Amino acid sequence: MTVTALANTKADITTNLYINGKSVRGEEGKAVAIVNPYDNSEICSINPASNRQVDNAVASAYDAFRDHSWTSLTGRDRGALLFKLATLLREDLEAFAIIETMDTGIPIRETRMEVATSAMHIEYFAGWAGKIEGSYQDLGSRFNYTRREPFGVIGQIVPWNTPLKLMARGFSAAVACGNTMVIKPSIVAPLTNLRFAEIVDEAGFPPGTINVITGSGHTVGKAIVEHPKVRKVIFTGGTQGGQEILQQSVKTITPAVLELGGKGPIIVCEDIDWDEAVDGVLTQAFARKAEVCFAGTRLFIPPKLHDRFVSALAEKVAKIPMGPPLEGTTQLGPLMTADRVSDLVEHVKTAKKQGAKVVCGGEKVMDDGLERGNYFPPTIVTGVTPDMSVAQEELFGPVLCVMTYDDLDEAIEVANDSEFGLAAYVWSNDIRKSNHIANRLESGNVFINSYGYQSEIPFGGYKMSGIGREHGAEAMHEYTQTKSITVGMERFQSRFDI
Ligand code: NAD
Repeated sequence: MTVTALANTKADITTNLYINGKSVRGEEGKAVAIVNPYDNSEICSINPASNRQVDNAVASAYDAFRDHSWTSLTGRDRGALLFKLATLLREDLEAFAIIETMDTGIPIRETRMEVATSAMHIEYFAGWAGKIEGSYQDLGSRFNYTRREPFGVIGQIVPWNTPLKLMARGFSAAVACGNTMVIKPSIVAPLTNLRFAEIVDEAGFPPGTINVITGSGHTVGKAIVEHPKVRKVIFTGGTQGGQEILQQSVKTITPAVLELGGKGPIIVCEDIDWDEAVDGVLTQAFARKAEVCFAGTRLFIPPKLHDRFVSALAEKVAKIPMGPPLEGTTQLGPLMTADRVSDLVEHVKTAKKQGAKVVCGGEKVMDDGLERGNYFPPTIVTGVTPDMSVAQEELFGPVLCVMTYDDLDEAIEVANDSEFGLAAYVWSNDIRKSNHIANRLESGNVFINSYGYQSEIPFGGYKMSGIGREHGAEAMHEYTQTKSITVGMERFQSRFDI
């Protein structure tokens, strides 16, 4: 679909930034082309934020945080604003879905779900807004109570792979807790984030409570992280970005939640429900062309199931409709950029040279009508050994590495032999066995006969997959800081005998 067709759906695109309640053009002179991964055509261009605009955005969030129009709102009031926002998002679902699809190549049937899930995240945190509680300790001669207070200005840095949902969850948790925000979407896929700012405005949030400015990570992102008035950073992105954020935040001792990469192991046991496990692994490995941090990319399977299981997967893979992302029947779209396709092709070639076997995929898709896009098929590689780069690096694409194991201890050990620890998967009908495996996996999230996170489930990584947790009650701790207030109930005794 072209921009003209988009106009027919009334889903017009916003290329402006949003600072202090106003839609403004980015001041950085060199405009950046926003490209549709379906055919690499230009959707529009955006001028990134200048340094001056970063300062303005932070100053407006800082002023808004201290302004009566924000401080006078109760948690319930903030929740009501968030509920209104979720309603507006649902009303505008189709436009958001079309824009996200054009910007990221995620098929429209998926982006419709993503918009609905974003609204669910907002509603979940709206519910929390009036329920943020401290604690009380009776200490005899004194008592102490704690308040969970907002940080003030939170800087959120968003990646390109699920821009709307990740922004919505961070924004709504932050605002529920009384913070204000400066949000930086990825310059590669900023369009739904920029549009989101408009409905935040319509929902009635006071000007300055949310500011959305885009640009590169090393200019605009860095300036946000290093800004002394930004008191917390929420970063979702690659591990290298996370390392840079930690270095950048040293000067101001700004804490950061880091949601980083993964290399999810999938352990299939002998006692599985066959059809369910095949469908499950297919989804874990290839849904959203595995451009999701929690994809399962290393399959561990007993030798006696190996051949049949791999054939069943390959047979199903061949049937997944790949096509133009705006067509309702398409189930797999293109990867985000052309570079990512060539990178995956190289990784698969290297694995082959090292002795692995490519069961299906591994080459750029050149089918009629898709050749201009960044299409790379679901790829299954067998005979992988743990030391191969294909088994170690986060490829962030649909390449499933298959390894066999003779005993479970060995499978768990190899599964844990990774610098990452975000999501892991177990397929087994034996509750004791699967729990034993789950307890031993070094991973922030383990899914037994299941897939996918939701607002209620604390989500985050072990090891180099990150620091902190999003979602659930734990997120409320990430977006607030504890203040202890201690009150003396008996006459104060001086330490000095004078
Ligand atoms: P990325 O790290 O390149 O960029 C993410 C965002 O950070 C972008 O907005 C970018 O401009 C910004 N950025 C990068 N370096 C920065 C710096 N030094 N200072 C400030 N900002 C900086 O990641 P990406 O390629 O956009 O997204 C893919 C990665 O995100 C994958 O590794 C994936 O696993 C990860 N991811 C993790 C989760 C999670 O919840 N754990 C969710 C989605 C994506």
